[in-house]
Amino acid sequence: MTDSAANTTGSQKPEARSQNGKAISFFWRRSLLVSGFLFVFGLAHASYAQQQQNLDKVEIHVLPVQGNVYMLVGAGGNITVQAGNQGVLLVDTQFAPLSDKVLAAIRQLSNKPIRYIINTHYHGDHTGGNESIAKVGTTPNVGPGANLQRPTATIIAHENVLNRMSAPAGVQAPTPTAAWPTDTYVSGQKELFFNEEGIEVIHAPAAHTDGDSIVYFRRSDVVSTGDVFVTTSYPYFDLQAGGSINGVIDALNRIIQIAIPKHEQEGGTYIIPGHGRLCDEADIVEYRDMATIIRDRVQAMIKKGMTLDQVKAARPTKEYDRRYGSTTGPRTTDMFVEAVYRSLSGKK
Ligand SMILES: [Zn+2]
Repeated sequence: MTDSAANTTGSQKPEARSQNGKAISFFWRRSLLVSGFLFVFGLAHASYAQQQQNLDKVEIHVLPVQGNVYMLVGAGGNITVQAGNQGVLLVDTQFAPLSDKVLAAIRQLSNKPIRYIINTHYHGDHTGGNESIAKVGTTPNVGPGANLQRPTATIIAHENVLNRMSAPAGVQAPTPTAAWPTDTYVSGQKELFFNEEGIEVIHAPAAHTDGDSIVYFRRSDVVSTGDVFVTTSYPYFDLQAGGSINGVIDALNRIIQIAIPKHEQEGGTYIIPGHGRLCDEADIVEYRDMATIIRDRVQAMIKKGMTLDQVKAARPTKEYDRRYGSTTGPRTTDMFVEAVYRSLSGKK
């Protein structure tokens, strides 16, 4: 999910190599742009200030999951931490103003360097801390030369995450360069071996966005899903960013394929959702069934030629509304039904 208000922040200060005039003028251009933005969108500014205040009170809770893997819960998307002898790997970084608290929470688990950040998608509540957390880390042995080291942690993501965080030459990018993925992949999956564990970064096409990754820790037996799976609401897919209901259902099925439950009890593969509580396979099966049933109902209604208003009035979500529904806030049931309708009918 995303919260655009909090995503307009990030430390705007120039980078260390800013003796170079280019970087400084970039900084001022950026500051002007930001203040212009705040002037025009006074309301957004107010909600940012409010968000800032709320974030001041946020505590980061550390939850051991299984094996080398921990879950950090604060505000924004859940963070997954894998820690061991080689260092620390994170999945997602929450909001920039929380980075100091996130780092303090990581230090409770490990004093080793931060080596990798994997972004599940580009939304600001999952990537806001990229810049401030990556710069605390280092990456050894990059490139062909011995002892060649990158002065920051490596940020891994699907290529579309980079595309959405950056911009073509001459256009102001929505996020600072230092927050961008440094190591991207295009299709299928990317694999790495870190802390004696194989890690699969699996692309889920056209799901929550067009750049989603699911991260599977093979030895710890934990899947970090990003926002293709959340326990706090109906599925949310960003139609403007290439998401779709069918892609979300495919992603849920992919996770179910990976997960193996412990016989007749909780446990087995643990699943860290993009938002909400720690889950096991049974939870995600239930969620997949809900999403599939609602998708099928809306599909049938579209086939009958029903309009969006008629589909909404028919309440295709009704028995699930007590669990996932909402009439207020940024993700109402109405918006979900509309998104499913538009996703299936191709009417954007
Ligand atoms: Zn999201």
